[in-house]
Amino acid sequence: MKFGSKLIHNGNEIDEHTGALSIPIYQASTYHQKNMDIQQEFDYSRSGNPTRKALEDTITKLENGDKGFAFSSGMAATSSVFSIFSAGDHLIVCEDVYGGTYRIGTDFFSRFNVEVTFLDATNLRKIEESIRYNTKAIFLETPSNPLLRITNLKEGIKIAKAHDLLVIIDNTFMSPYLQRPMELGADIIIHSATKFIGGHSDVVGGLAVVKGELLAKKIYQVQNSFGAILGPQDCWLLMRGLKTLKVRMDYQQQNAQKLAEWLNEHERVEKVYYPGLKDHVGREIHFSQATGAGAVLSFKTVDEKIARNFMSNVHLSAVAVSLGGVETIVSYPVRMSHAAMPKDDRERLGITDNLIRISAGLEDVDDLIEDFNRALFLDDE
Ligand SMILES: *Cc1c(COP(=O)(O)O)cnc(C)c1O
Repeated sequence: MKFGSKLIHNGNEIDEHTGALSIPIYQASTYHQKNMDIQQEFDYSRSGNPTRKALEDTITKLENGDKGFAFSSGMAATSSVFSIFSAGDHLIVCEDVYGGTYRIGTDFFSRFNVEVTFLDATNLRKIEESIRYNTKAIFLETPSNPLLRITNLKEGIKIAKAHDLLVIIDNTFMSPYLQRPMELGADIIIHSATKFIGGHSDVVGGLAVVKGELLAKKIYQVQNSFGAILGPQDCWLLMRGLKTLKVRMDYQQQNAQKLAEWLNEHERVEKVYYPGLKDHVGREIHFSQATGAGAVLSFKTVDEKIARNFMSNVHLSAVAVSLGGVETIVSYPVRMSHAAMPKDDRERLGITDNLIRISAGLEDVDDLIEDFNRALFLDDE
C-alpha cells in the first residue's frame, strides 16, 4: 500500500467495538480487572492506554518500524531516548540539532556522565574521527534548523553500523511522508509531533519509533518509569492530524517552493535556503534520501533592518516559534528559537541577524507573496 492510503487505512481507523470511524478517546486512568490472575493488556494508563496504543501503532506503520511510543512533547521523546544510555557512554550529535536537544546534551545528560560531542555532521570524516571506544550512538537531524543543511543519512548510517553504533534521527522537518530513515537502516526515529504530524498548531506531543525488540523494551521501560506519556485527547488529535498529512505536506511544500523561488529573485533578499532550489548545498543528497523538499525555508535579507521591519510588518502570517501548522509562520531565529545560543556560536552556524525562517502554510500563495513583498519594502523609521 502506498503512503497516502496507509495514512487512512493502517488498521487503526475503525473502533473494533462499535465500528466508529474514529478511535474513541479512552479517558481512563485505570481498567477493571475481571480476574486478578490473568494479565490484561491494559491496567493503568501510564503503562498503556488504547487511544495512545492506536497512535503508537499508526506511527510505527508509517515509519516502517517495530514499535512506537507517544510522549508528552518532542523533547520528552528525545530525553526519554537519551535515557537508555548509561554513565560513561559517549554520543555524537550534529551541531545544528534542535536547540532543546542541544540543551539536554549540554546541561542535563552531562551531569549523569553521558558525554556528547557536537559536530558538523555534513562532514562525514568528522563523524568517523570522533568515534571512541565508548561511543554508543549517532544522533542526526536533516534538513537542519534553520538553514536546512543536509546530512548524508546513507553514509552516516554506514559509518555508524561499521562501528556498531545506534543511529537516532530527528525526522520532524520531513515527517514520515517525505523521509523514512528506518528504511535506510536507522534504529530510532524521533518526532516533535507538535509540528507537521499534528499540523494545526493545537497540540504539543512527541513520538519515537524503534527497530527491534531490545530497543522497544528499553524505550518502554523509560516511558513507563518516567511517565512522560501523551494524554488520550492529544493522541486522538495527532491521529486526526495524521490523516491529512500527505495533502497538507503536498500543498505546503508547493507553497514553500513558490515562496523560495520568488524570494530568490527579490532585490532585498541576499540568500534563500531551501532544498527545492537548484543551488541549495546538499540538494542531491537530500533528494536521494527524501521525496520532497518540505515546507520550511529560510532567507537572509540584505541587511538586519529589513529583516526586523519585515518581522514587525507581516500581517497574514503568524509570528511564532513553531512550524508545521496550517498557517504560515515566520520566525526570527536570533531573537526566538536561537536566542539562548551564544552569539559566537550562532554566527559560526550562520544564524545571523538578517535571517528569517518561514514555515509555509495552506494559504493561497499569492496572498503570502503580496504580504511578504509589502513587508520587505516597508521602511519604517
Ligand atoms: C520542535 C522541535 C523539537 C521539540 O519538540 P517539542 O514538541 O517542542 O518538545 C525537536 N526537534 C525538532 C526538529 C523540532 O522542530
